[in-house]
Amino acid sequence: MFKALMLEEKDGRVESSIQQVDEAKLPEGDVTVAVSHSTLNYKDGLILLGQGRLVRQYPHIPGVDFAGTVLDSAHKDWKPGDAVILTGWRVGEARWGGYAEKARVKGDWLVKMPSGLDARRAMAIGTAGFTAMLAVMALEDHGVTPAKGPVLVTGAAGGLGSVATAILAKRGYKTVCSTGRAETHAYLKALGASEIITRESIAKPSGKPLDSEAWAGVIDSVGGTTLATVLPQVMYHGSVASCGLAGGAKLETTVVPFLLRGVNILGIDSVMCPIERRRTAWSRLAMELPVDKLDSTIQTATLETVASFAPEILAGKVRGRVVVEI
Ligand code: NDP
Repeated sequence: MFKALMLEEKDGRVESSIQQVDEAKLPEGDVTVAVSHSTLNYKDGLILLGQGRLVRQYPHIPGVDFAGTVLDSAHKDWKPGDAVILTGWRVGEARWGGYAEKARVKGDWLVKMPSGLDARRAMAIGTAGFTAMLAVMALEDHGVTPAKGPVLVTGAAGGLGSVATAILAKRGYKTVCSTGRAETHAYLKALGASEIITRESIAKPSGKPLDSEAWAGVIDSVGGTTLATVLPQVMYHGSVASCGLAGGAKLETTVVPFLLRGVNILGIDSVMCPIERRRTAWSRLAMELPVDKLDSTIQTATLETVASFAPEILAGKVRGRVVVEI
């Protein structure tokens, strides 16, 4: 038996409780992991509250990310005692996830814990931070360097934005953070923000297809009218890493920035990201993310308390990253 946070559907409502679960009920997979830490992502918030139609089958154990130690393995790459990280692959949504003492997955999905990180710090990074690194890599692949000009991070005080800010600042980018929360300014400065602008200042498109060139790159967690506002502000041959939709999924814009300025919009997907790129991203996170700054972003939850953070993350009120200690 192992302890887990279980979601059940009762009369159309999703309710959570802590339960003892029989190990025989774990899903199929060739590696069983003793989970020590998980985390809370925006998607976990949706799943905990039964929103977004992400979970089709109950009872369900949520938790899209986890870190821990291999208990049993029938996979050639893993043996008992190996420290591993899992993010994405629809774990925690289409199959049981990390809010539990044990998880069973495919060995092909696991990444070895890079040296320099431990399970708590890996989960402080989690899918949000991993996605931030994928976004930085995508901008770099498309020629965005510190010499090209400032990089804008939207939704900067959230999980993805916080990690993106810390990485960009460490790599020498002039990092401009947009946030809707004045109380996070000192926090963002401590992460390395060069300048802070208000969420409102980029929330309404000018209506013109092109505005003054302001950003060599953009890491966008917000989408919606924010993305529509900043696209015409991107510099010649600049790039936008489109990561999230915290402000809305709909994008009303024109193709003019693409045609006249060669602007690139780069889609960032962390869930099905190929394993080689995952390994690169995690080893870069271990080397390039200042862990002292990362530690200052952590709030701690337990299996018993994590569900209480769900409304907060959906309302954009969580600062930085929530680590779940199993
Ligand atoms: P968080 O809730 O931690 O951060 C989102 C931030 O967006 C908030 O902190 C807030 O920042 C800002 N925000 C929230 N609501 C609004 C709004 N209505 N208008 C404008 N800004 C808003 O979430 P995460 O960092 O975990 O995820 C961010 C986004 O990225 C989510 O949409 C998530 O689904 C997506 N995502 C995508 C992934 C992928 O693979 N593509 C992987 C992980 C996440 P502030 O207070 O600073 O303004």
